[in-house]
Amino acid sequence: MFKWFGKINFVPYTKVSEFAQHLKEGRIMGTRCRGCGAVTFPPRADCAECMSPEFEFVPYSGKARLVTFTQISAAPTGFEDIAPYTIGLADLPEGGRVLAWVSGIDVRELKIGMELKLVPRIFEEIPEIKLYYTLERP
Ligand SMILES: [Zn+2]
Repeated sequence: MFKWFGKINFVPYTKVSEFAQHLKEGRIMGTRCRGCGAVTFPPRADCAECMSPEFEFVPYSGKARLVTFTQISAAPTGFEDIAPYTIGLADLPEGGRVLAWVSGIDVRELKIGMELKLVPRIFEEIPEIKLYYTLERP
């Protein structure tokens, strides 16, 4: 399953590898702790609140609110061909935060606090990055 992540390894735990399959099928999922009910994104197998290893996947709406963003002009190795690109940090109402590429919105139109949508994507153009998600207009 991790081959779907290519260069980007969002979740280095095999216990939450199901996350990749959900993304591939178009679903954004977080995890809920069976011990204390804490909901997290990205998914994590072991609860940061109570240390319980018991969790279940919960569907996310894809709603997101922009916290901050930056434009990357000097891209890291492997990403030079797509620079400049914009990265956004967004709060998810179900719980947690996401760091993702901003797609289809000019950086000059971005405003902190604006509503965005988190969209699962399979990227065919860059073979190293097959599966990811983007922040887009709702
Ligand atoms: Zn917990």
